Amino acid sequence: MTIQAQILDELRTLREETRAGIILVTHDLAVVADIADRVVVMYSGRVVEQGTLDELFYDPQHPYTWGLLGSITRIDRDSSQRLPAIAGLPPSLLHTPQGCHFRPRCPHAFAQCTEDPALLARIPGNAEHVDRCWLELEQKRKLRVVGDQIGLASPEPVIA
Ligand code: SF4
Repeated sequence: MTIQAQILDELRTLREETRAGIILVTHDLAVVADIADRVVVMYSGRVVEQGTLDELFYDPQHPYTWGLLGSITRIDRDSSQRLPAIAGLPPSLLHTPQGCHFRPRCPHAFAQCTEDPALLARIPGNAEHVDRCWLELEQKRKLRVVGDQIGLASPEPVIA
């Protein structure tokens, strides 16, 4: 963690000194939260959501993004419980699923998901926040709440 913080500080310094843009590829959302201005979420070789840091963390639109956010270690989470994981595996890029590539792992998939969703701005008045999911905006805002946090609902019945 100490080395990571030093590297991020170094990147920030370089960014300020050179005024260069930095593209950082990572699965570590803590790093993203620490340094990014804009976030591009990729799944199965293509962009599934893109927006500002705040948009992605506070109003995420794609179920894969929900799954990533739901699997972050958090200080307010019961440490005796396993971290939530996204069920299944990413598809082979040689044999991608018909329609939405996330469909085999998505607990919210429905009939339309066999058609390929385009990467579109789907929030009225916000042309910059784009995603690739057929669900309606209000459905997304409801379905992404798991317990009291953003996450991807379990495809299995939850046994208390
Ligand atoms: S388009 Fe369908 S399968 Fe794909 S993420 Fe949205 S709800 Fe899930």
